[in-house]
Amino acid sequence: MKQITVLSGKGGVGKSSITASLAVLLSEKNSLICVDCDVDAANLALIFGMGEKDFQKWKPIKTNEKAELNEGKCIACKKCLDVCYFGAIKWGRGMPIFDELSCEGCGACALSCPEGAIELKEVENANIGHGKTDFGFKLVSGQLKMGEAGSGKIVAEVKQIASKKGRKKDLMLVDAAAGIGCPVIASVAGSDYAIAVTEPTPSAFSDLKRALGVVNHFRIPCGIVINKYDLNPGFSKEIESFAAENKIKILSKIPYDKSFVDALVNMEPVIIQNPKIRPVFQEIAENLPKEIGIKI
Ligand code: SF4
Ligand code: SF4
Repeated sequence: MKQITVLSGKGGVGKSSITASLAVLLSEKNSLICVDCDVDAANLALIFGMGEKDFQKWKPIKTNEKAELNEGKCIACKKCLDVCYFGAIKWGRGMPIFDELSCEGCGACALSCPEGAIELKEVENANIGHGKTDFGFKLVSGQLKMGEAGSGKIVAEVKQIASKKGRKKDLMLVDAAAGIGCPVIASVAGSDYAIAVTEPTPSAFSDLKRALGVVNHFRIPCGIVINKYDLNPGFSKEIESFAAENKIKILSKIPYDKSFVDALVNMEPVIIQNPKIRPVFQEIAENLPKEIGIKI
């Protein structure tokens, strides 16, 4: 199974909308599984019009730990108070009090405790579910719980489940988180190709370059999609020049189209909302490298 990952650096440039419509188009001739790795703000299911009832299973997973005090062992030496970088330990009632929401599970307090009074306990920090879309393919989605950390490990777990569910499929299409943090690195790792989505603004271009740094680190071939290119044609040209200088293919330049917003409002992929936009996604598919073996 080949893996294509869609990422953007900056949020809000149309990454998930483009992933959803590309999935619908590619699924017509390729067997695929779609994966929402934006675990901090998973919304691909909503774009596919899926609700809770469409997910067969939500499995809680534990990829993070929290500090817990064994009160009987604590001698109130206060050594642990000095080592918590995250400010998760307060003092009260003659002993340390751990703030669950602030604790990142780094373990520094447990190492500093001379009495072994602090243990790290695994916590359920996310749910992973899967369901079938109306378009015939499965979506695997991970959702971080409120105030929890460990999203990079959650993404790795989501992809592992998707690999098992889609082991007989041609393609895994991954919607990565925005940014360049752990969840993006975990999304991109192991990809055969990356699609970097941007828009013609200085902030999106700057974030695009940072995202391409992650892609280059893993030596993954990639292409660029410029969304809403006609809102700032001059700046789009600048992105095209950058792509040419760095030998990165422009997969498509998508004009501003209100139907992208209508599609989000109506909870359906834009390719369904406005079939006239289909050539845009056809162009992206046709520009993907032959080695990936996509049938068009
Ligand atoms: S595990 Fe780390 S973050 Fe949590 S309370 Fe201890 S030192 Fe602070
Ligand atoms: S370092 Fe250990 S013994 Fe000292 S106050 Fe913290 S938990 Fe108690």
